[in-house]
Amino acid sequence: MSNLYRLLPSVDICLRQFRDTMYPHALLCDAVNAFLSEKRGQIKDNLIKAEDLKEEKLFSALKEYVCYALSPRVKKVINASGVVIHTNLGRSVLAKEALDAVNLAASGYCNLEFDLEKGERGSRHTLVEKDICKLTGAEAALVVNNNASAVYLVLNSLCFGGEVIVSRGELVEIGGSFRIPEVMKQSGTALHEVGTTNKTHLKDYQDAFSENTKAVLKVHTSNYRIIGFQADVPNHELAEFAHSRNIPLIHDLGSGSLIDLSAFGLRNEPTVKGIVASGIDIVTFSGDKVLGGPQAGIIAGKKEYIDRIKKNQMLRALRCDKLTLSALSATLRLYYDEKLAFEKIPTLNALTASKDILKKKAKRLHNMLKGIMPKEKVKLTVEENISRVGGGAFPETDLPTYAVCVEFLEKNSAFSAKAWKERFLKTDPPIVGRVERDKFLFDVRTIANEEFILIRNCILSIL
Ligand SMILES: *Cc1c(COP(=O)(O)O)cnc(C)c1O
Repeated sequence: MSNLYRLLPSVDICLRQFRDTMYPHALLCDAVNAFLSEKRGQIKDNLIKAEDLKEEKLFSALKEYVCYALSPRVKKVINASGVVIHTNLGRSVLAKEALDAVNLAASGYCNLEFDLEKGERGSRHTLVEKDICKLTGAEAALVVNNNASAVYLVLNSLCFGGEVIVSRGELVEIGGSFRIPEVMKQSGTALHEVGTTNKTHLKDYQDAFSENTKAVLKVHTSNYRIIGFQADVPNHELAEFAHSRNIPLIHDLGSGSLIDLSAFGLRNEPTVKGIVASGIDIVTFSGDKVLGGPQAGIIAGKKEYIDRIKKNQMLRALRCDKLTLSALSATLRLYYDEKLAFEKIPTLNALTASKDILKKKAKRLHNMLKGIMPKEKVKLTVEENISRVGGGAFPETDLPTYAVCVEFLEKNSAFSAKAWKERFLKTDPPIVGRVERDKFLFDVRTIANEEFILIRNCILSIL
């Protein structure tokens, strides 16, 4: 048996290293035991040398291990992938104004459900309704936990026990198993599919109508596009048809942008205002996709329908908390001045960053990193590339960008794009980058300037 085991200190001696800290004892013991067990494993597999087990080195590794293990579970991550609305990385980064609003609402009591004019109980739903109406042209609005619950609540409130007509070309699955047919089933409505995958005509909707029909649902095909021999029915025609039968037209818009982004190359997406003006009765969209706010589902449209949705008992289960409402309220405020919105809302800022700005940004990161790279092993370049909007919005839109690329000249187990991709997941903070043609890429579109120094430190730690 290896005598290295004898170099491992006892749990007690390890615990003494943390005498001046505030870690809860039970959690600290777990972390120390896990650390020691990891070291025993490394000794068994011959992965560790005697010098790594010397007191100073070992205790420093122990402290780092415990600090990481006992820090909050939600950790900062650097998004170097270039996917702006990255659902797995938390979607939108909030504007400073939104963070301040959350801080204010959370650090003391607030008027969440208290009408300060009347001095009595109020409704949390009024906090953002006016702003949503003003920014979208809708008569009334309501906010719930996310867009999936918005769709559910709308269908359950307006169509329970009846049929809803949907085009076959729009029976989508959004990442993470949000399937329109499943949501409809759960909401107590029956799906009546019409048309074919590539073509649906007004006549298909007309033929499908029966006394059981409660609504027409239009779904934004967020993450794909049908191109080529294709047809669907424009909203104003669908609205005319629905209204002639006294049923509402509901539009699940998915991402939903409050401002027109076509000047930035983000085309073929209507604004929420445009959708409302097209004659729909209810539109639903996410708060944390292109809008750039907190996770939320926004329901906007005609007052008679919103009033019915507000009466649904399930609203209580799907309502937002004060953190969300304060962040959303502050984000919406920024939209009253479009220039301010582009400047202050990180998602909009990242989506509309010019090539020129991105090139300069990439050069700055390149300059910061080139000095620390071992020149004989890696080559660092700035290259043009493509970033993605993400979040199911603008699926085939290419956003031209610049990336700092690490090319590996002398390939071995520690110096390859794949190895770096894995090692960056374990740095503090972790970096989620992209690998393309054996190069590791930092797409600067989604990296904040303040994160450059952190990237430098992460690289130093893995070298
Ligand atoms: C993203 C999306 C959803 C789900 O929205 P969440 O806010 O993630 O719940 C629903 N429908 C469409 C069309 C979407 O794009």
